[in-house]
Amino acid sequence: MQRALNFNAGPATLPLAALERARDELLDFAGTGMSVMEHSHRGKEYEAVHDEALALLREIFAVPASHEIVFLQGGATQAFATIPMNFLRPGESADVLVNGAWGEKAMSEGTPAAKLVGANLRVAATTVESDKSYRRVPREDELKLDGAAVYRHVTSNETIHGIQFHEMPALGDTVICDMSSDFGWRPVDVSRYAMIYAGAQKNLGPSGVAIAMIRRDLLDRAGAALPKIFSFKTIAENKSLYNTAPTFAIYLVRNVLSWVKSEGGLPAMEKRNREKAALVYGAIDARSDFYRCPVDAASRSVMNVVFRLPTPELEDRFVAEAKKARMVGLKGHRSVGGVRVSLYNAVSVEWAKALADFMKTFGG
Ligand code: PMP
Repeated sequence: MQRALNFNAGPATLPLAALERARDELLDFAGTGMSVMEHSHRGKEYEAVHDEALALLREIFAVPASHEIVFLQGGATQAFATIPMNFLRPGESADVLVNGAWGEKAMSEGTPAAKLVGANLRVAATTVESDKSYRRVPREDELKLDGAAVYRHVTSNETIHGIQFHEMPALGDTVICDMSSDFGWRPVDVSRYAMIYAGAQKNLGPSGVAIAMIRRDLLDRAGAALPKIFSFKTIAENKSLYNTAPTFAIYLVRNVLSWVKSEGGLPAMEKRNREKAALVYGAIDARSDFYRCPVDAASRSVMNVVFRLPTPELEDRFVAEAKKARMVGLKGHRSVGGVRVSLYNAVSVEWAKALADFMKTFGG
């Protein structure tokens, strides 16, 4: 078997060690004569996996005692809606920073959800251009913050547009961050955030589970009318086992986290991720007459590198020829076109080097 060099944006490549462990344990988990996905989510065998995944998150991300860690279903998209429903009360408002498609979605899903509880979301900054494209994160002097906002929502990495915050602006002490596509790319000071959330399917596992770290004081904000299934407090109080958890997805998250730890944790991830991004951006910049990255240099994402070729036909050819060399997942998002290279934690430096080498000669 030859592994594909998988540059998908998510679901994305997983560490081989995490998959091999799943393969080895699949039919007979811990000597029980059945797979982990056939176990009760309330049995001790699964519970050990669940607890280990939570403990590894707390250790690897150095999550302070002030924050609960929960597993959510419905992806980051559902969280766009459940965040305002949990944290806003009638007449209140929250600020949203928009620097790409996912910030837009946080607004468009979050606004009707806020209305359900009599509250409102407000755009505090947007970097949308007149042609609807995005090229950068907002500058601090562009932020129009509402002093009364209950929280401020920000997208640390825009997966489709390849735009990333490298320094978070000062947004007060109740910042909620969608880190779906750059969670765990480097160490993060969790204490600076009221809530961090991310779908697992980029850096941490398969689709089907999202991970959130939530400051405890926020959990009491939800009104009594909120259905329990949407309540972060209920989920936290039940250790993310209020209803049947996505056990196999969480099991795989456990495997990925063990791999992260064995590789040296988030500092090691950061070193490797910077190396990979330097290789691919280096290949773009070395042929700036041919490749063009539409993102301002200071906002370039380390996780999702987007670029254009002179014509859409050449872009199609690039993706097709790369595929012949087993490099897959390179087509840009359908809404923006171009090429996108996702360099999540499980993408090796060797893969990034192979792609950079291909870019040196393609079309030449
Ligand atoms: N936010 C960001 C930054 C994302 O990249 C994505 C998925 N690509 C989402 C939110 C939505 O996640 P999900 O599909 O898991 O709901």
